[in-house]
Amino acid sequence: MKSYDELHFSEESDDRHQLVFHECELNPSTAQLAEGSEAICAFVIDQLDRETLQLLAQGGTQTVALRCAGFNNVDLEAAKELGIKVVRVPAYSPHAVAEHTLGLLLALNRRIHRAYNRVREGNFSLQGLVGFDVFGKTVGVIGAGRIGVEVIRLFKGFGCDVVYYDLNENETVRELGAHYVELEELFARCDIISLHCPLLDSTHHLIDAVAIEKMKAGVTLLNTSRGALIDTTAVIEGLKKGKIGNLGIDVYEEEDNLFFEDQSEQIMQDDVFARLLTFPNVLITGHQGFLTTNALTQIAQTTLQNLSDIEAGRDCANEVKPRPEE
Ligand code: NAD
Repeated sequence: MKSYDELHFSEESDDRHQLVFHECELNPSTAQLAEGSEAICAFVIDQLDRETLQLLAQGGTQTVALRCAGFNNVDLEAAKELGIKVVRVPAYSPHAVAEHTLGLLLALNRRIHRAYNRVREGNFSLQGLVGFDVFGKTVGVIGAGRIGVEVIRLFKGFGCDVVYYDLNENETVRELGAHYVELEELFARCDIISLHCPLLDSTHHLIDAVAIEKMKAGVTLLNTSRGALIDTTAVIEGLKKGKIGNLGIDVYEEEDNLFFEDQSEQIMQDDVFARLLTFPNVLITGHQGFLTTNALTQIAQTTLQNLSDIEAGRDCANEVKPRPEE
């Protein structure tokens, strides 16, 4: 756990559970630290494969409490076989990620990140800092779920014409004044495209060379959802050709061995990521969309409640089970 997690879990714990914090990642070589703990709390980067789960079970762990929504890092079959219950936090502040998306857009468009550095060095030149008015732009939101709806609300507040694509039309979104369009039309019409659908087989590399070809020249692309929605190599080509005018991302398809740790002393091994860093019109944050006090408080509250439910033998609505065989 990081210090920000520790702070929020300590504040919310109310002495219901005895908490022991470890900073290291959970994997087979660190699993022994949990020996004697009835439950462990894990995050997206922790390695909850069969081997780790076996070691946890041997040490007496009966519950894995994920402090995140995603559970693709957990071998649910193995957990079930070992009698380990898995619980998660299915939802927390959608505003955190929605607002970060707008933050990325505004910083990127007005080059605030570059201006910040220039001014600190006494360079007040405005060369290269020209942006555009967000007001009046056509914005396309892909995935109008909890976060997508909040992003639509924010863009409507900016005076944008908002269209969206989802598997189904959404009444809340209609009331916000956004129009449903097919993906092809969204690609062709939008000045700004923001991704908020989940990563599934059907959405893997949703933004590939073919999709980029259909977009307007100079389009601004935002992704705060999951890295592999974008084919990064195709996006780099789009940036080189000037087809993509701006790219703002909080997620990256190969982020697993990169994000969440200080790597500043290491030699960057990922050449694709290194290339992205060279563009003046690319802004990357390291998966921090969720990182607000409000969201962290909700995550801690739900996780601790999940643990209380399991401990008391109550049904826990946030339990994750392996999918039954189709
Ligand atoms: P959600 O389940 O509420 O909404 C997802 C929406 O995408 C749904 O409306 C669903 O119908 C739609 N969808 C599914 N398949 C689609 C497809 N093929 N095309 C278009 N739309 C499709 O999820 P949410 O809570 O809004 O989260 C959205 C994404 O944000 C998730 O992928 C999640 O991983 C990501 N996320 C990122 C951060 C961060 O820190 N950057 C934090 C939380 C969540």
